[in-house]
Amino acid sequence: MTTSEPASVSSPAETIQSLFEHHVVPTYGRFPLTLDRGKGSYVWDVDGRRYLDMGGGIAVNVLGHAHPELVKTLSEQAGTLMHCCNLYYHQGQGELAKQIVDRIGPGKCFFSNSGAEANEGLFKLARKFGCEEGRFEIITCQQSFHGRTMAGIAATGQDKVKQGFEPIMPGFRHVPFNDLAAMKSAISPATVAIMIEGVQGEGGIQPASSEYLKGLRALCDEHRLLLLWDGVQCGHYRTGNFQSYASILKDHEDGEAFLPDAISLAKSIGGGFPMGAFWVREPYQDLLGPGSHGTTFGGSPLACSVALKILEVIERDSLDQNAARMGGMLTKGLQVLAAKFPDYIQEIRGMGLMIGIVFKPEIADLGNTARPVSLQIVERLHANGMLTIPSGAHVVRFLPALNISAAEVEEALSILNSTLESITS
Ligand SMILES: *Cc1c(COP(=O)(O)O)cnc(C)c1O
Repeated sequence: MTTSEPASVSSPAETIQSLFEHHVVPTYGRFPLTLDRGKGSYVWDVDGRRYLDMGGGIAVNVLGHAHPELVKTLSEQAGTLMHCCNLYYHQGQGELAKQIVDRIGPGKCFFSNSGAEANEGLFKLARKFGCEEGRFEIITCQQSFHGRTMAGIAATGQDKVKQGFEPIMPGFRHVPFNDLAAMKSAISPATVAIMIEGVQGEGGIQPASSEYLKGLRALCDEHRLLLLWDGVQCGHYRTGNFQSYASILKDHEDGEAFLPDAISLAKSIGGGFPMGAFWVREPYQDLLGPGSHGTTFGGSPLACSVALKILEVIERDSLDQNAARMGGMLTKGLQVLAAKFPDYIQEIRGMGLMIGIVFKPEIADLGNTARPVSLQIVERLHANGMLTIPSGAHVVRFLPALNISAAEVEEALSILNSTLESITS
């Protein structure tokens, strides 16, 4: 856009995009979509075009958009007590901590405002746990993603998030995911913890294997390491259980006994209200004592009210079962499409409503070899009225609301089918 053009020539979308171009730090390569409002699993752009939202704002809009009960809860709580800081008690935070403990196991919770901050708390917990013995090192996995803070990028097993921010915070090493032998041989006398995602999200929707989880638990017990679980993307019932280890280990007799030592939560926990949390298992729940950690906003009355309402609605409406059922239906449909388009689709991966379509790294029919396949597919899906999330160069993710309907799943499959058909022709 040039400034010599009369203002009336610009569309609302162009005007908004121009504000970003001039005034917002360009950390994101954004798609040219300007969204205005949402309802359930649909969003509308400023020109009134409707999109089926299969990305859920990256696994955040857990009950879809503008859920009437969340709107009511937020507005009522805003009119009662929005914020009071952590120098005082209030009912919501205590209640929410109990609800999370009830769903995971004996321990305690801390509340933050994002996933990166939740993980930051887990790194501090591990440092505190090992400090008297001089142990500090945390081993994470290649292709993992743990947030954008300085410790978060140090923990993340992807070079692209670290470049330009050296020196990287020391004390983190990365090993291949789902490789127990590699983890075992990486453990040093300085190691204090292992952190993994149950299903790697940014790393292309890669679920951990059941053997890996059981092996990691045994390794941590043997070497007195904390097993830190990043449940930011794969948690909150997305895989059919509150945390994904229960989904991964569901057919194992001893699966019930598996517990990490600490778990981070964010994304879906607030359904769009910015929020994070971590849970710490007994007997480590009091390691972070008074003055050792804190946050101004974390666990505010407003945040806790909406998080409590989300848990209530998920439970009342059996949305864990809906996630498993709709996820199964979506996966089955995607497998049919994978068989129909073998030149394009390599594999369908994931669990519940966390599903990745792995495209062939190069698709000649797309006609643009310079731009990653994932972005080109996502853009074509936008043109056909559906939002999805790219994950790396050739995976496209579905992370929809847990209350998605069978009709919406059918619609998603139909849009994908016609989009792939249109590439061929
Ligand atoms: C998104 C994400 C984070 C970071 O959460 P933010 O709220 O963006 O700070 C950390 N870990 C995983 C697995 C994530 O998907």
